[in-house]
Amino acid sequence: MHILLVEDDDRIAAALRPALHRHGMTTTRLARGRGAVDHLADVDVVLLDLGLPDIDGVDVCRAIRAVSEVPVIVVSARGEVDDRILGLHSGADDYLVKPYDIGELVARAHAVHRRHRGPAGSPAGGVVVVDEVSVDLNRHTVTVAGREVTLTRKEFQVLALLASAGGAVCTRSRIVAEVWGRSWPGANRTLDVHVATLRTKLGRPELVQTVRGVGYRLGSPGGTGPGPGAGTPAVG
Ligand code: CA
Repeated sequence: MHILLVEDDDRIAAALRPALHRHGMTTTRLARGRGAVDHLADVDVVLLDLGLPDIDGVDVCRAIRAVSEVPVIVVSARGEVDDRILGLHSGADDYLVKPYDIGELVARAHAVHRRHRGPAGSPAGGVVVVDEVSVDLNRHTVTVAGREVTLTRKEFQVLALLASAGGAVCTRSRIVAEVWGRSWPGANRTLDVHVATLRTKLGRPELVQTVRGVGYRLGSPGGTGPGPGAGTPAVG
């Protein structure tokens, strides 16, 4: 996987690049936002810092979206909530808050890359299994310990999105955007209701985990599910 790293902080770039290389990724680094759209050839995922010296990262994101569907993960400093929301509205696929964990970055990069390629490209043939819950992304069926569970279309779409993320966190805004197509006042409440129904129907209350203030992820109760490993260094 080739990562385009748009990051003006030399210290962060110097720590990040070898860590990504150790995860089998290759990187190109730009220290400015200007010209980023000219470097998208063969890029699988863009990691875009929103605080850049020359152009607002949100504008860089919009410029990328105008010419390419390449997955973009925006990075903002802690507390800049408006930036993150603005980033997602400007076409970003996900966001990270500094300082973030390398393992989390790698998991999210794989997740956005996988979704971009679509379920057909997944090595598991489009079936994700977590804690006896089997989600068939192609046939749109769900079984729990071999027993088929009937979900509404929206319930299935929420579950499929979480299953496709490979254990990474799906932000509330992204789930709402991808499942309902648009956001509206009360969207979060609607999402919560769907998740509550999912937990009841699946009979696995701990499978769909709440990441407070961010969104949801899939994980088995024992923490053996896919996701970032413990003890990886923080950057930022
Ligand atoms: Ca910066």
